[in-house]
Amino acid sequence: MTRLRRIVVVGASQAGWATAAALRRFSFDGVITVIGDEPHAPYSRPPLSKGVLGGTEPDSSVFLAGADDLDLVTGLTAVRLDAGRKRVVLSDGDSIGYDGLVIATGARARRLSPDADEITLRTLDDALRLRDRLRNADDLAVAGGGFLGMEIASTAATLGKSVTVVDQVTPLAGRLGALLSDMCRTAAAETGVKIRTSPAGVRIEDGRLVSADGTVLAEAGLVVTAVGDLPNTEWLRDSGVVLAGGVVVDPCCRVAPHIVAAGDVISLPGADGRFTRSPHWWNALTQATIAAATLLGREPDARLGSTAPIFWTEMFGLRIRIAGKLPPSGEPIVVGGSLEDRSALLTWPASGRNAGFGTAAAVNFPISAPKLTRLAQPR
Ligand SMILES: Cc1cc2nc3c(=O)[nH]c(=O)nc-3n(C[C@H](O)[C@H](O)[C@H](O)COP(=O)(O)OP(=O)(O)OC[C@H]3O[C@@H](n4cnc5c(N)ncnc54)[C@H](O)[C@@H]3O)c2cc1C
Repeated sequence: MTRLRRIVVVGASQAGWATAAALRRFSFDGVITVIGDEPHAPYSRPPLSKGVLGGTEPDSSVFLAGADDLDLVTGLTAVRLDAGRKRVVLSDGDSIGYDGLVIATGARARRLSPDADEITLRTLDDALRLRDRLRNADDLAVAGGGFLGMEIASTAATLGKSVTVVDQVTPLAGRLGALLSDMCRTAAAETGVKIRTSPAGVRIEDGRLVSADGTVLAEAGLVVTAVGDLPNTEWLRDSGVVLAGGVVVDPCCRVAPHIVAAGDVISLPGADGRFTRSPHWWNALTQATIAAATLLGREPDARLGSTAPIFWTEMFGLRIRIAGKLPPSGEPIVVGGSLEDRSALLTWPASGRNAGFGTAAAVNFPISAPKLTRLAQPR
């Protein structure tokens, strides 16, 4: 096997930074260049919709601890991959050669309109801008009742804003299942947040959220959209890298010889053969370790899909961590705490042979992430 001397990581965020750190942990002593298009040093996004937006967490707390001896390049975009010549072409016209490449370009906010003024929340700059705008607004309309939209609504409600969330479907039901999503919506209603559904969809019109038939669903001083994300793969077009709703990887995060990928940008086939992404913080970290091992020719300790995926969300006084198959369906077993107290450890065991993962959830309940993951493993 060729000994790698220079590894280039494209994407200077959670996955890219964690992969670089794992490469050093695995004793890679060559050059690691991390290239990111944002002007900031790598930072963590989860606090952006929570403590940073709410002003309860210092902005500086988001920055990730440094990995050893890295060459970090910020404010430059990778515009093309020439995999044949093993070069990444950059937005300043220069290019950089590699003998190992990590693709970690993540995702960006999907937008509801072509309007450049549409307010979304993906980056630190977005969060700081939204926080400023929120200060001067009495009310907020949020398009999209997924995790991000509901977290923004929750934070705005704690700031005393009048909040309306509009979604095509019942918020969170598709991911958290009936019981937990119901708990979130009840907690939202208790803080005064209004939720409206519009099966035909929603568009922004004159600063209002409007349904397909023109019904005004929400009118507020400030409108923010949280309608999903899109993988940043444009720079890989015509490179030979296989794209299917993201960068396709094998269970070892391998994309092609000498190329691995990790984080929100990757796409995996589900049981039905359809490719999907699972864009969550913990996944980015797990994949980073697998990708680093694979790139160095080591056998990764775990493979994608061998342990139950896990993520968390915080909204309306609920800290929910959930591992395994989503959405859980049916009645859970209450392993600890109580649902009435909104502090509970729940499991939905896998049913039937070859059923794959079950689900385990901790709602305001202290349990380590590895233990929660184990509760969701097939028995
Ligand atoms: C507001 C918010 C709150 C969240 N809260 C939670 C939570 O509570 N729990 C949870 O599990 N997950 C949460 N997430 C998701 C989590 O943050 C992501 O899973 C994680 O950031 C993924 O990291 P990543 O490095 O793969 O991608 P990203 O964080 O998207 O980073 C990719 C980086 O690559 C850069 N880039 C893109 N294209 C190029 C290019 N061509 N050249 C150079 N650089 C490029 C991007 O600008 C970006 O800096 C949240 C996300 C957001 C936005």
